[in-house]
Amino acid sequence: VPTIGVLALQGDVREHARALEAAGVRTLDVRRPEELEQVDGLVLPGGESTTMWRLARSFEMLEPLRKRIEGGLPAYGSCAGMIMLADRIRDGVAGQETIGGIDMTVRRNAFGRQVDSFESEVPLTGMGDTPYHAVFIRAPWVEAVGDAVEVLGRAEGGANAGRIVAVRQGRLMATAFHPELTGDFRVHHYFADLVRRAMDEEE
Ligand code: GLN
Repeated sequence: VPTIGVLALQGDVREHARALEAAGVRTLDVRRPEELEQVDGLVLPGGESTTMWRLARSFEMLEPLRKRIEGGLPAYGSCAGMIMLADRIRDGVAGQETIGGIDMTVRRNAFGRQVDSFESEVPLTGMGDTPYHAVFIRAPWVEAVGDAVEVLGRAEGGANAGRIVAVRQGRLMATAFHPELTGDFRVHHYFADLVRRAMDEEE
């Protein structure tokens, strides 16, 4: 059984841990490098990316996180976690850094200019036939992706139709929405499978 860590510096850590348990994996709260060493995969929760970045820096976790992700650790970021996995961000605060890993440009609070939060049906590649009921809270969107990035989902309907809201690049994935909040854990199951396959490849 894989152990999937949840970066527990800030954000909705408990909700992700519960969703991962529903997907049949062990979970571990990750705050320090020693804990990061023990996990087979990592979830970066939703929350506030500026705070997450500042805390990661003061806990001396930025470099360890970058090294493990460069070394092939599977990771999944939701909302603020999506921002943390982006190689480039727009509308960050001055000096805001990410961990990086996914060759994409993400705009912070992109939908938030119109509305703070909203819900929408998003069809997701590889996660079943029914669209995903996605909850967006001051969400980013993905403005540009490199060739290695697979788009898994786009917003539908309204002015924001076509905006990229779910992506995957190899062992890294990210969603602009919060699948930990709805009780539909297809995204966590998908990530748990990705982690299991990564573990099989390492053996
Ligand atoms: N707006 C937040 C940020 O910039 C993300 C919001 C969220 O994670 N729900 O980090």
